[in-house]
Amino acid sequence: MKDATKLTHLGRNGHQGFVNPPTARGSTVLFPNVAALKGANGTRDAYGRYGSATSWALEDALCEIEGGYRTLLAPSGLAAITTSLLALVKPGDHLLVSDSVYGPTRSFCDKVLTRFGIKTTYYDPLCGEAIAALFLKETVAVYAESPGSLSFEMQDLPALARVTHARGALLIADNTWLTPLHSRAFEHGVDISIHAGTKYIGGHSDVMLGVITCNAAAYPKINAMHHDLGLAYSPDDAYLALRGLRSLGVRLQQHASSAAQVVEWLRGRPEVRQVFYPAWPGDIGHALWSRNHGGACGLFAIELQSAPATAVYAMVEGLRHFGMGYSWGGFESLILPIDPPPPRAARPWPASGPVLRLHVGLEDSADLIADLEAGFGRLGRATG
Ligand SMILES: *Cc1c(COP(=O)(O)O)cnc(C)c1O
Repeated sequence: MKDATKLTHLGRNGHQGFVNPPTARGSTVLFPNVAALKGANGTRDAYGRYGSATSWALEDALCEIEGGYRTLLAPSGLAAITTSLLALVKPGDHLLVSDSVYGPTRSFCDKVLTRFGIKTTYYDPLCGEAIAALFLKETVAVYAESPGSLSFEMQDLPALARVTHARGALLIADNTWLTPLHSRAFEHGVDISIHAGTKYIGGHSDVMLGVITCNAAAYPKINAMHHDLGLAYSPDDAYLALRGLRSLGVRLQQHASSAAQVVEWLRGRPEVRQVFYPAWPGDIGHALWSRNHGGACGLFAIELQSAPATAVYAMVEGLRHFGMGYSWGGFESLILPIDPPPPRAARPWPASGPVLRLHVGLEDSADLIADLEAGFGRLGRATG
């Protein structure tokens, strides 16, 4: 089956002849006899915390699309990340984490894992095989995110996987930007692929959900930690995410083609110094992106020419179609001033001017461009 067909067919363990699985709610599962009761112990059939027909349909669909062994859901993308990290470490261990990792992931390493004697070194997201020099004998995992949060560096995942596996460690990757449709994580040697289902999988800004897809070797550890932490999530959210998944392919095509038009227009503007978008041919990660993925979305960042913060705020606060908010991946356009710049340890933040992150939604791109053009007018007037 091709991807578009998979998105339509997978996870349809229908009921009563309906096209979609029901929203199955439940905590207690009743068993007819002791043999069945004991037989279910330790399996996902035992108890409501391990999901229901709704979430299993979503798990199975996501797993097959990305080509993993098993998928587990979590109550948020961040819970998927922290569960995966906790599953792999013990006191004294060492992690290599990408310097442009999602901020709360960094915070978990710095504030929580340090309390248990687990050290993190942040690596340059552009290092490729040179990551080998950073391994210690205590290194148990490499945690990548490609493209990186806010600065969008593409990482050479196959190269990272070769080095990581040669050292007997595991490669985790946050593939939220690529989605399970474009990540091809397991072909690239990733052991654990993480997604914020909150973003494009849900796709409508009304669901919080995390996704952990594992290969067969990593699954038992991740599954055990998932059980030990008691993670549970609502079947309604699983239902909405499965519904979002049906249109993931066409939504991403539209987000990416509108984003390409907006980026093209932004490139021609004197206010814009740099664009950070791997799907744009001038981006430093473009070749890697084309070779490994070739699928994009509507999220990117721009650096403006130097301007006072108040002028940038005048620009963003007056936009009609770009809302201001921290998330992305819904149908609506968003803008986020990156102010102050995030911490970086291994590769300097790539901009000296103001940076804006844009999410191009499903609005008409001409309306979005007109909105940004009016915004640049406010920026210019406020800069003086
Ligand atoms: C939003 C996001 C997350 C966290 O997802 P939540 O569902 O908001 O917890 C993780 N990684 C990336 C790259 C994200 O953008």
